[in-house]
Formats: sequence, structure tokens, C-alpha cells
Amino acid sequence: MKIKNIGTHAYHCCAIHGCKYGDKECPVTTKKVEQEYTCQWCDESGFHTIDDVKQYVHYEKELQSAIEQGHKTIEVDVNFLTKMMKNENM
Ligand SMILES: [Zn+2]
Ligand SMILES: [Zn+2]
Repeated sequence: MKIKNIGTHAYHCCAIHGCKYGDKECPVTTKKVEQEYTCQWCDESGFHTIDDVKQYVHYEKELQSAIEQGHKTIEVDVNFLTKMMKNENM
């Protein structure tokens, strides 16, 4: 399926907080393309830079595949974990 306006989604949508346009085929939320900016909710949730979001998405994938493969542990960067544990909104 061809997705229209990939650039628009990449600019406004968020892999964590969802598609701004409520599009189920959103290339950002389906992880087909990386978003360009943090969204309006990112800052409130403690994701201040696009790298924070990318790191979160990366670990979300790791976690998902670990669960699928029946692994009980995954390796996580301590800086990331510290950030997550301090974040009360998550
Ligand atoms: Zn979107
Ligand atoms: Zn966001």
C-alpha cells in the first residue's frame, strides 16, 4: 500500500504518542520511517530530543522481540534506564 504524505507524518507524528491524523497506516507509528521531530506530548513525557524518542523506540523493539523469543532479560543502557525511572509520567 502506498502511503501519502510521508513527509507530513514524519514531521508531525510520533512513534510513541501516535499519529497526529489518526491514520492507522501512519508510516511513523508503524515504524516504516523515523520521525523528524518530537511531538507536542514528547516534552511532557520526558522525551526532549529526537534521540530520546529513537532510543525508546529501539528498546521497545528489543523488548518486544525478547518477549516473543521468551527471553527474561534484555540489556539496557543505564543512562536510558535512569531517565525512564525518573520519569513519573510514563
Ligand atoms: Zn501519522
Ligand atoms: Zn511524542
